[in-house]
Amino acid sequence: MKPLLIGGQWIETAQAVPNVNPSDTKDIIDHYAQGGRAEAQAAVRAAADAAPGWAHSTPQERHDLLARVAADLMARAEEIGTLLSREEGKIRAEGIAEATRAARIFDFFAGEALRAGGELLPSVRPDIEVAITHEPVGPVALITPWNFPIAIPAWKTAPALAFGNPVILKPAELVPGCAWVLAEVLQNAGCPPGVFNLVMGEGSVVGAALLAAPEVKAVSFTGSVPTGQRIAAASVPMNRKVQLEMGGKNPLVVLDDADLERATDVALDGAFFSTGQRCTASSRIIVTEGIHGRFVELLAEKVRGLKVGPALDPASQIGPVVDRTQLDQDLRYIDIARREGGNLRAGGNMVRCATPGYFLAPTLISDTDPAMTINREEVFGPVASVIRVRDYEEALHVANDTPFGLSAGICTTSLKHAQHFRRHAQAGMVFVNLPTAGVDYHVPFGGTKGSSFGPREQGAHARAFYTQVKTSYVFGG
Ligand code: ADP
Repeated sequence: MKPLLIGGQWIETAQAVPNVNPSDTKDIIDHYAQGGRAEAQAAVRAAADAAPGWAHSTPQERHDLLARVAADLMARAEEIGTLLSREEGKIRAEGIAEATRAARIFDFFAGEALRAGGELLPSVRPDIEVAITHEPVGPVALITPWNFPIAIPAWKTAPALAFGNPVILKPAELVPGCAWVLAEVLQNAGCPPGVFNLVMGEGSVVGAALLAAPEVKAVSFTGSVPTGQRIAAASVPMNRKVQLEMGGKNPLVVLDDADLERATDVALDGAFFSTGQRCTASSRIIVTEGIHGRFVELLAEKVRGLKVGPALDPASQIGPVVDRTQLDQDLRYIDIARREGGNLRAGGNMVRCATPGYFLAPTLISDTDPAMTINREEVFGPVASVIRVRDYEEALHVANDTPFGLSAGICTTSLKHAQHFRRHAQAGMVFVNLPTAGVDYHVPFGGTKGSSFGPREQGAHARAFYTQVKTSYVFGG
């Protein structure tokens, strides 16, 4: 059994759950301890006990710990990437790239620990200086989803630790493996007891217990809209900081003047890589009428050419869907789209492989209407729809016609339209002639409208969430 990590101790539990490979459901990766309310509370106490010491650790100590973690993650990137692909299902190249990204995130925040400066301003009154400093917030709970099993835990844990906050990580039920390796790496790197705690278990039990604890001063969450709303509702009465990254229904606009080859590649990557299981996936492809026919024809051909198979098979380009529930959801949305009048241009069917897994052919549905269910709700799978529009103005209107606002893209050779779209797309991240997914690790990540709440994640902007501002006055006259 792979145990929990609480207060620097590995803790086994009465119950352990299997971690199943979605490429081969006969393959059990390992059994993982399942925490309950008591374990969550013990982790909160351990983090609270460790908080003053970690808050007053030197920037050098924090830098060195994060740098050691970065080096170990990088050295183990192939092993971790392989485990990631085995438990989550994205292909191995993507798994290794994600593990490498996690290492680079720790490396970046090792530097941020040294750069955690403030400001010094003269007061408007004579002989007074005002210092603005950024202080740790205290114990933070990190609640993470299954689709980026190492990158998301890394991009929350690294800034939390860099800015002096102890962590309780609650990974998604489906992917305890990568989170457990991250705990092991931190432990081997000499992380002080209680500064990093790992509690695997159910969201409704462990997550809920973390939310009920007043010692938890901040919660960073990535996952579904209903859970995000629950976290906000539990946290506001406690004056707790909240950072929520939730869904997306990301538009990719393709204009008549786009480079056809590039636009189809951008759509293919944005919609289907990582099995489309990215909150930044291009799910609504909005195409102007002059290029529509040629675009759909070529994209459908490319989609049909994608090789679906086991994540660890080097020939695979698209791995399986993460589990049975997600697969059923994908199939249900495909069915609804067809019944509402969509035209199936590629996929829609299961793919048979040598191993029993959740293999779904990448699916492209054309002739959809902005009001159809497929264009309103997040599918979270290898499924994209095409909406035909008259011109740029209509494309922009349709692109913004969603409660979400995470990522938005446009393919065009027109500078005028590219610039206009950058300014008017209602999204936290905008991409011109690039897939809507694929944000660098050193720049802010986050959305607007119903997609996100609270300060941005990643890069130097992560400080806003993981610190609180203190303004102090000194009279020196
Ligand atoms: P998904 O539909 O992608 O699984 P969820 O929002 O259900 O999204 O899950 C994201 C994370 O939130 C997971 O770690 C899950 O265990 C956790 N979670 C689910 N329900 C709750 C809850 N009631 N309180 C706190 N965390 C929860």
